[in-house]
Amino acid sequence: MADTSLLVILGGGESGVGAALLAKAKGIPVFLSDRSILLDHYRLLLQQEGIDFEEGLHTEERILQAAEVVKSPGIPMKAPIIRKLVERGVPIISEIELAARYTKARLIGITGSNGKTTTTMLVYHLLKTGGLNVGLGGNIGDSFARQVIDDTFDYYVLELSSFQLDDMHRTRLNVAILLNITPDHLDRYEYQFQKYVDSKFRILQNMQPDDTFIYFQENPAILSTLSHRPPIPRGLPISLKSTPEPGAYLDADGQLNAVSNGQTFRMAQADTPLQGRHNAVNMLSAILTAQAMDVAPERIRLGLSTFRNAAHRLEPVGEVRGVRFVNDSKATNVDSVFYALESMTTPVIWIAGGLDKGNDYSQIDGLVRQKVKALVALGKDNSQLIRYFEDKVPYITETQDVREAVSLSLDLSQAGETVLLSPACASFDLFRNYEDRGDQFRQAVQRWVSELS
Ligand code: ADP
Repeated sequence: MADTSLLVILGGGESGVGAALLAKAKGIPVFLSDRSILLDHYRLLLQQEGIDFEEGLHTEERILQAAEVVKSPGIPMKAPIIRKLVERGVPIISEIELAARYTKARLIGITGSNGKTTTTMLVYHLLKTGGLNVGLGGNIGDSFARQVIDDTFDYYVLELSSFQLDDMHRTRLNVAILLNITPDHLDRYEYQFQKYVDSKFRILQNMQPDDTFIYFQENPAILSTLSHRPPIPRGLPISLKSTPEPGAYLDADGQLNAVSNGQTFRMAQADTPLQGRHNAVNMLSAILTAQAMDVAPERIRLGLSTFRNAAHRLEPVGEVRGVRFVNDSKATNVDSVFYALESMTTPVIWIAGGLDKGNDYSQIDGLVRQKVKALVALGKDNSQLIRYFEDKVPYITETQDVREAVSLSLDLSQAGETVLLSPACASFDLFRNYEDRGDQFRQAVQRWVSELS
């Protein structure tokens, strides 16, 4: 029989441990189970707090006692333990859903296939610069659950992946941003794009007419879904082609414009640290959010000009013999490479490859032909990438070593050109993760910089 109040938490990372701490603080009986080994500091924290947990296994009899389960976003629905819980009708929620029950703060949620982290950090930075008392959660930093234990913030900015949205049911967002939807993670959605689209649209559930929905109107999946599913909250479109008002757009002169909530804002993208049309979309969504929260235009301007993006996203990592090196290791799908290439203003030596999740490269054909003079394939198995581009790029070479990729690229380039690491693939074939890949790339470039200086 299920325990009438036991909360079981599956996964002991930042969000799971945060959820356990919150449950404990609220007096809810809790048991945490992780099939892998916990990081030392999380284990210690759980021990110090007297929270019951197990690691390295899932004890089914205990887990099936749950009245409710908080599932880590990393665990797929097809995992055997999840199937059994579903069969028994045990409600499964995300850490965000649990945490939202314990806060009165206004919630701003950000989703999309690409640009979530950049936009979440930017929204947070603009609201903070605007003097608001705001916290940051979702996939970034301290978990949302851990923060609502003391619940000292008036606003939370939350980065929401589709996996987190899948396990959100009641949470109401006051502002939602939907940046784009392009194929990604399809292995978790039975290879049906529509299922992934539906998951992203869950961000709208529970929103009310006085809430604000900010979306990029030129994304085909967003556009077609909205045409048969009009949103309940006030919609604010973003455009790179037209001039929606209310809404926000990049105009032909490279000015960012936003008109909403009785405010008008205008600023040259060139005066911000974020380049590329994709970043215009990210910035316009953040500006509209700040306007919805009544942040004054001069504060928005100050916030935009002082923002520093997270590493691995079109991050300049050095110049060697007049050649610029850019680390875009976070570009793990084709759409993000599209925008990276689009933002390049010089010939490009493109470093790409890794674990290919079934990529369709046709989207970037035109840009590659136009801008890429050489491709350095960096992956364990580069055959697919090479086969696809062999008649589209003048020169292709391959390596399994990031230092060699950097020196090969340098050999292939001339002053004034750009070496771009923008892999379109996951990193796990040769690296621990995308951060490791980007860090090793940066170090390899830095070695050249110091050798030649
Ligand atoms: P996420 O958190 O959704 O993975 P990031 O902000 O970490 O998004 O960016 C991931 C990759 O996508 C980077 O390579 C970045 O340059 C690219 N990118 C950022 N914003 C967008 C966007 N709006 N559309 C497409 N690609 C983007």
